[in-house]
Formats: sequence, structure tokens, C-alpha cells
Amino acid sequence: EYDIHVIGGGLAGSEAAWQLAGAGFRVRLSEMRGGGDMTPAHQTDGLAELVCSNSFRSDDAERNAVGLLHAEMRDLGSLVMTAADAHQLPAGSALAVDRDRFSEQVTRTLAGHPNITIVRERVDTLPTDTPAIVATGPLTAPSLAEAIGQSTGADALAFFDAIAPIVHAESIDMGIAWKQSRWDKAGPAGDGKDYINCPLDREQYAAFHAALLAGEKSEFREWENVPYFDGCMPIEVMAERGFDTLRFGPMKGVGLDDPRTGRWPHACVQLRQDNAQGTLWNIVGFQTKLKHAEQVRIFRTIPGLEHAEFARLGGLHRNTFIRSPILLDRELRLKARPNLRFAGQITGCEGYVESAAIGLIAGRFAAAELAGRTLPTPPGETALGALLSHITGGAEAETYQPMNVNFGLFPPIEGRTKKADRKLMYTARARVAFGEWARALEPVPA
Ligand code: FAD
Repeated sequence: EYDIHVIGGGLAGSEAAWQLAGAGFRVRLSEMRGGGDMTPAHQTDGLAELVCSNSFRSDDAERNAVGLLHAEMRDLGSLVMTAADAHQLPAGSALAVDRDRFSEQVTRTLAGHPNITIVRERVDTLPTDTPAIVATGPLTAPSLAEAIGQSTGADALAFFDAIAPIVHAESIDMGIAWKQSRWDKAGPAGDGKDYINCPLDREQYAAFHAALLAGEKSEFREWENVPYFDGCMPIEVMAERGFDTLRFGPMKGVGLDDPRTGRWPHACVQLRQDNAQGTLWNIVGFQTKLKHAEQVRIFRTIPGLEHAEFARLGGLHRNTFIRSPILLDRELRLKARPNLRFAGQITGCEGYVESAAIGLIAGRFAAAELAGRTLPTPPGETALGALLSHITGGAEAETYQPMNVNFGLFPPIEGRTKKADRKLMYTARARVAFGEWARALEPVPA
């Protein structure tokens, strides 16, 4: 017996289930992992598993849109943010987490909630008689993706998303590499020495660039010509764009003082801590579709990584999402079948935080509806409202592509202002709007 069916126990489904259960509704939470199925990117049975980077990005709520979204989610009692805050790792001004402990806490909390039944099962058809939230993510099982395609009447789109390699710390040569955050910046969980840096001189950079271009790549014919997302573009694709593209991107040397030379290196590879013990480090921005053997060969030419042992190599995966701006109403209901809501990355938001945020608001909308009320949509001046309104109508349907939260989604600030001031104005305006909206909400007990 349950009031609502949440399909998918990832970032969005976990948060949606938590919000609904907190509002007093009985939730069936179906997750296929642990029931004999896996996705191409997940590695565990844990709920809310982080499949790639361990970062929730900037935690700066005054100057950064995703930092602002963190703050709004905390105010709404987000389980994902509570677990992230509890398992934070040093990462400059970013919020990085120990992925295993994070996922464990989410799983344990939901499993222990009296209103939630977690069922390890794959769902192949869309529920017809009960309200449901579909939160099956970018790697939705093909059977269900097909059912969704039939129901939406529009083609679901697919493109690829990439994973960066992870290195064992003990295999990094710290006689060459050194620890430092760019510009010595110290974040909430760090000391200004959060990253491991591997310097390349001009010649080494040129050789590395040539090796990336020549390296053998995996073939993904069916996904050819599909656009990449900025921030998840494979390094070899970035290398193809120009000789210096990487040197001005993930391989920037500025603000990093090589202790052996006392100078900024020509180029620099950065690694970020990936687990609490500090035994695993991921290579920042190095998502790739190079073949595994090629990754090992080429990445070991990086000074300091000559003997690198890899805990995980980079890879490429599929990303499924629906054309939300035409398919969904403002409350994330499928217009053609309003008993169904969609949440998370399948709606075309992008990122852990955004997926959890859309799960959160989908859960709140559904809870209000079950209680016979209507939840006012969060104002467009807030991070949550800006993201939501982009998904549910603000974006161009024809060219719709997954989107991170950013100030470009907010109503513009009128008049001429300096860029730095404008960010502060966006967030100050957001806080006022969010406060007014949140005061009118029914409290949701935890
Ligand atoms: P998920 O977290 O994937 O959750 C969906 C859940 O549904 C999964 O647990 C899945 O097993 C389950 N499921 C699927 N089909 C069914 C079914 N038919 N029945 C039952 N259960 C089902 N975002 C970032 O912020 N940083 C990154 O570094 C990053 N890297 C990514 C790398 C890859 C390879 C991919 C694919 C995505 C990446 N993303 C990243 C994007 C996105 O933020 C994450 O995928 C995020 O987990 C999306 O949250 P979600 O809840 O929508 O989906």
C-alpha cells in the first residue's frame, strides 16, 4: 500500500521520496540496482550514487548560482544536502564529498523511514492508476525509455557524457607533483593545498597534445555528431579544437607555483581528492573516450604520473532526456498524463545538484497535490525557480539541451553594473524572493 510511486533511487528519486515521506505520504521507491540490473556508469547498489566527479561544485551562495541552489535546498530540508554536508572533503571553495559515505547515509536514512518502502526492481512500464514520479536518470533502462517514448509521443534525445580517470595517491610521484590550490585559495573544508599538481614544460605539453590527437579512441558510431556539454567535453575533443585550448582550460598553469622552479608551469594537470582517506584522486577535466590502454600509456607521460596506478579509467556514457519544455507543465507533470511527474536529469537539467533540486521540488509538488493543495511555483528570481522555469517552458524546445543552473537563467538585472556586483545582486534578490515564497509553505517535517 502506498500513495505514490517513485521510480529510480538516484539523486532526484531519493530527494523526492524524502520530501514526500516527510510530508506524511507513503512512498514505494523502486530502484533496479540491487535487483539484478546495473547502468553503464553506476558501480554500487547504493542510492544517490555519484557516478563521476565527487563534487557538488561551488558552495558560494553569494557569487555562484549552484552555491545559491545549495542554500535553497538546505532551507527546504534536502536530504542530499544534509548527507553532502556531513561527508564533505577539502576542495577549495567547492563542496566535494566522500561518495561512499554520502550514498550510504542517503540509503540508510531512506531505508529507515517508516513511510518509505525501497523495492529493488526494474520498472518497465509507466504506472497508470497511481501517481508516480519518474526519476530514472540519464541511464534510464532501455525498456522504460521505450515506454516513455511511446507515452510522450516525442523522441527522447541521447548524447554522451564522459568520466574522468581516478589515480591511487601512493602511485603519484610527489617529488615532482606538489599540493596547492590555485592562488592558494582555501575553501570551507580546505587549507589552500587541496589539489595535487603535475607540471608540464612547453615540450612535454606539445608531446602530450600530439599523443592525445593520435591516441586510439573508442568508437561510438550511433552517437556520432551528438553535441557535447561544456564541462564534460572529452580532453581529446578539446585538444582537437586548438593547440592551446587545454592550456587555457583544465591544464591551466596560472596561480600554481612549482616549488622546483618557483614559477608557474607552462601547463599543469590537477588532481582532486576523491575519497575521505585521501587515497584516491581524480584527474580534473580529464573525461575521455580514449581506449583504456591508451589512457594508461598517455597519462603516464605526465610528469609525476609516470608510475600512476588507476583505480578507474575514463569512459563515455549515454544520456537520455525528454523534451521537457513542450512535454511538461509548470509542476513537472506530463501534460498528456498528469498522474506522472518527471524529475532529475531525465527532465534535461544537468548535474547532481540540479537533479536533486528538481527531485526535491517534484516531491513537494506531488505532496501538495496529494494533500489537495497547490504549491506555488518558486519565483524565477530564485535558483530553484530559474532552473524549474527553464525546464518547464523557458527553454527553446527545438534546441533543448541539458542545462546547469546559472545566472543566465535568472531574470536579468536592469541597468549597467560590474560583473562582480551583478552576481551579488542576483543572489541578494534571490534571497528575498525565496524567503517570501518559503514563508508561505506548509512545513514539511523531517
Ligand atoms: P541517477 O542518479 O542516475 O538515478 C536514476 C536511478 O534510476 C538510478 O539509480 C538507476 O539505477 C535507476 N533506474 C533507471 N532505470 C530504472 C528502471 N527502469 N527501473 C528502476 N530503476 C531505474 N553530474 C555532475 O554534477 N557531475 C558529474 O561529474 C557528472 N558526471 C556524469 C557522468 C555520467 C557518465 C553521467 C551519465 C552523468 C553524469 N552527471 C554528472 C550528470 C547527472 O548529474 C547524474 O547523472 C545524476 O546522477 C542524475 O541524477 P538522477 O537522479 O536524475 O539520475
